[in-house]
Amino acid sequence: MKKPLHSNKKKRVMSAVIALFGVCILVACIMLTRNVTDISQTAKIVIIASGCIVLVTALVISVILDREVCRFKCQKCGHQFKPTLTAYLIGAHFPMKRHLKCPNCGEHGYCRVKIYEK
Ligand SMILES: [Zn+2]
Repeated sequence: MKKPLHSNKKKRVMSAVIALFGVCILVACIMLTRNVTDISQTAKIVIIASGCIVLVTALVISVILDREVCRFKCQKCGHQFKPTLTAYLIGAHFPMKRHLKCPNCGEHGYCRVKIYEK
């Protein structure tokens, strides 16, 4: 029997799905404007702009959801922390690591994601 995911893990997966959904919508809009020739230039711009709005909205929701449920563990001192929104946004990252500065020891490095459990 499959073990149910904790709700915060579900939120993390949902944030990735939402971001992927936004990318797919934008790609679909671009493909639509390239493949359909009998629509005006203005309509093409509106379709691509709509796709960009959907993508930005999806990314904002994704970032808010992901940052809410994730804590990061410093590799040097083991301190777990929630980064600032700016640090979260500009930190280079992999799915389970993000480059951040530890507020406890000041060390810069790739911090491992820990799903926040209440
Ligand atoms: Zn540290």
